[in-house]
Amino acid sequence: MNLLEYAAKELLVKEGIPVAQYGVAETPEAAFDIACKLAKRPLVVKAQIAAGGRGKGRFLNGLEGGVKICQSPEEVKQIAQRMIGSILVTAQTGEQGQLVKKVLVSESIDISSEIYLSISYSHSTASLLLMGSRAGGVEIEKIAVENPQAIVKKFVLPDYSLWDFQAREFGLDLGFRGKELVELSRILKSLYKTFVKHDASLCEINPLAMDRERKFWALDAKITIDDNALFRQKELLAYRYETIYDPQESEAIRSGVNYVGLDGQIGCMVNGAGLAMATMDILDRFGGRPANFLDVGGGADQSQVENAFRILLSNRNLRVILINIFGGIMRCDLIAEAIVEATKTHRPSIPLVIRLEGTRVKEGKIILENSSLEYLFADDLEDAARKAVQFLKK
Ligand code: ADP
Ligand code: MG
Repeated sequence: MNLLEYAAKELLVKEGIPVAQYGVAETPEAAFDIACKLAKRPLVVKAQIAAGGRGKGRFLNGLEGGVKICQSPEEVKQIAQRMIGSILVTAQTGEQGQLVKKVLVSESIDISSEIYLSISYSHSTASLLLMGSRAGGVEIEKIAVENPQAIVKKFVLPDYSLWDFQAREFGLDLGFRGKELVELSRILKSLYKTFVKHDASLCEINPLAMDRERKFWALDAKITIDDNALFRQKELLAYRYETIYDPQESEAIRSGVNYVGLDGQIGCMVNGAGLAMATMDILDRFGGRPANFLDVGGGADQSQVENAFRILLSNRNLRVILINIFGGIMRCDLIAEAIVEATKTHRPSIPLVIRLEGTRVKEGKIILENSSLEYLFADDLEDAARKAVQFLKK
């Protein structure tokens, strides 16, 4: 899960990282009110989307840039009006862009230089990776490619906190000395603490600006939380839905179903993530495109199957459904019953291909045959994929 900038900044503030005063608004009027309360001028209005590159982005309504400097609360209101409810396209969103539902209104900082700072995983070395650069800001991706020596990297063993000497060494490598070194080390240690405390996989400040008085400010923040740790990051759960744009995906999270929306027309319901991946591969081989990845889980019960069905059917692009169940621990007769029950409430108006195999498959088949459900039975995975794709071609 990617936190929006305003939410990421809340976490940084809690750890004592200096962030320019800001507020977050869902309406132009609320943006105006925040602007009136902020003392310093000019002000900055920033579109809140779960992707970077906003500064150089473009709105579909023609507005240039998702980060705008404004001179007055009136101007903040006008800009917020044009941002909220519009789609912002950046180098990181894909051409479909992302809908802006909130804007951040912040005091502006008189920047003298921009620093890049991040902590992430390095899977290949089983350690954490600190990255920093004196050439931070909106061009950092370009610098990483064209001038990689401008980026300082340091691998540290994962530990509860960063040692002082590690933080100082990193700051020295970045060329800081004296008071600035002390302050940068403190910020880095706080960023590290944020990373560990919230089960993040990325904590990035870009830019960490230095103002004319040589004071640091985190002007942008990107924090990615490991979804598998959300069960113990309860206070972050509230942020979960604001960055998910696919209605099926957000419903799946609520129902505890593993679902990822894709752009094909074959709805897949499979038990086990590996089998779900294999099903998508084989569909692809036969020239079909899956509409989704859906793993109902190894121990799915009837309500889980019903939830999965409801989520599948709410996708209007579907033209055929493929159910692929391999009963290991899961019994095929229980699954067959669950399918029959689920289709009573959510009757599909499109063809259904079912492949069942494994524990108590005979009993499962009998249950399906004795029901009023219309479906096509497949003998194996290949047969199932071929049949599903044939429906598409009809
Ligand atoms: P993104 O990384 O998505 O483009 P940023 O928040 O980093 O968005 O903003 C882009 C640039 O806008 C920053 O590199 C910085 O130069 C400027 N900027 C952002 N926030 C402020 C602010 N509060 N005061 C002054 N300049 C800012
Ligand atoms: Mg940025």
